[in-house]
Amino acid sequence: MHELRIVSIRSLADSRRMNTRLTTLMQAITDRRDDLIALTQDLIRIPTLNPPGDNYREICEYLDKRLRRSGFETELIRAHGTPGDCDVYPRWNIVARRTGAHPGDCVHFNSHTDVVDVGRGWTVDPFGGALIDGKIYGRGACDMKGGLAASIIAAEAFIATYPDFAGAIEISGTADEESGGYGGVAYLAEKGYFDPARVQHVIIPEPLNKDRVCLGHRGGWWAEIETFGEIAHGSMPFLGDCAVRHMGAVINEFEEKLYPAMAARHTDMPVVPQGARSSTMNINAIHGGQAEQLKDSTALPSHCVPDSCRIVIDRRFLVEETLDQVRDEVTGLLDNLKLTRPRFDYALHELNHVLPSMTDRDAPIAQSIAAQIQNVLGKPAEFVASPGTYDQKHIDRIGKLKNCVAYGPGILELAHKPDEYIGVDDMIDSAQVMARSLAQILKTEPDPA
Ligand SMILES: [Zn+2]
Repeated sequence: MHELRIVSIRSLADSRRMNTRLTTLMQAITDRRDDLIALTQDLIRIPTLNPPGDNYREICEYLDKRLRRSGFETELIRAHGTPGDCDVYPRWNIVARRTGAHPGDCVHFNSHTDVVDVGRGWTVDPFGGALIDGKIYGRGACDMKGGLAASIIAAEAFIATYPDFAGAIEISGTADEESGGYGGVAYLAEKGYFDPARVQHVIIPEPLNKDRVCLGHRGGWWAEIETFGEIAHGSMPFLGDCAVRHMGAVINEFEEKLYPAMAARHTDMPVVPQGARSSTMNINAIHGGQAEQLKDSTALPSHCVPDSCRIVIDRRFLVEETLDQVRDEVTGLLDNLKLTRPRFDYALHELNHVLPSMTDRDAPIAQSIAAQIQNVLGKPAEFVASPGTYDQKHIDRIGKLKNCVAYGPGILELAHKPDEYIGVDDMIDSAQVMARSLAQILKTEPDPA
């Protein structure tokens, strides 16, 4: 009885001290607001456009300096021989590791450093990092330099508050996510950087909104379909065979059979937005016949029946579908046309595929982030899945590491748009969630008895 009382008094003191430390941690993040803004702006001002893969070395050197100052050991790794890697556009990555005072788990934050093309319609400098009304503007602000900055601030504030933490923290900045991640996370995973013996928890701060835990993504299958014809004079098309009309028949099959079938399929994955809970397919491109001319060209058309027409399809599929089913469904329609449509012939070249990836919602990192969303934002976390793929696929398939989620600030719908921005308050909130999750996983003291 007596002993029990001592234990409970001590545990009360322990839990009080833990709460004070958590308050200090939350304050350490709010105190770093200006630093967070400046860091995000600096990252936006390094134009890491992909394609072609500009300035990867520069952004890695910037991160290297910053993280070494915070006590991380760093490695700069070039993904030699991966798609696009060359001496003009080398694929550089950085992996930084800070080891704690005691053995324990490693939490890894992975952010891609590349950004997509600027496009038209901007009202601010896309690489200026302007701060207007609490929002920082620029290409990559939300996807995902804001998330990268938030994770660095979270880690730095955590290390300052819990210098005696157990385990390790890793932060990586990786290339080429926007073009498949082969020169980034896939390369690092092949080299063992995501081996479960080295890393136990992964957070990818993609812009899924600060109150959502993203468990995974749908799959994708990309292919080019070509239809064939026979060239002839355009004034006597009956002497040839028009490949564009054959492609019209393909698209008609898609409209009548494939699209309704895909729309009728629904997934149990919590994909957002709602429209992506069915199978979808985009036709990315179509081309047939004479080379495309500029709109203001004065050249006259040549008179030929096209003997080739090509489309590129982008088919996104659900965890309930297999890649073989997805392929067979399209080739089935094409083979059927071959039987029913005179002179129809086609070729199909697969361009790429990605399998769906889903982390269990009971996985430790998913549960930890969800608990800290509740603590910081005062509302339950929403579990979601992404319509498009991101680097989780490589961590899952190559790294064999399942305990991985995407969690980060920013509005998903702003990604790749003109006037992309990240809210500073959202970055602060999500940095607090990340830091509390570190405090929970990289425990400095045992739980009170
Ligand atoms: Zn992204």
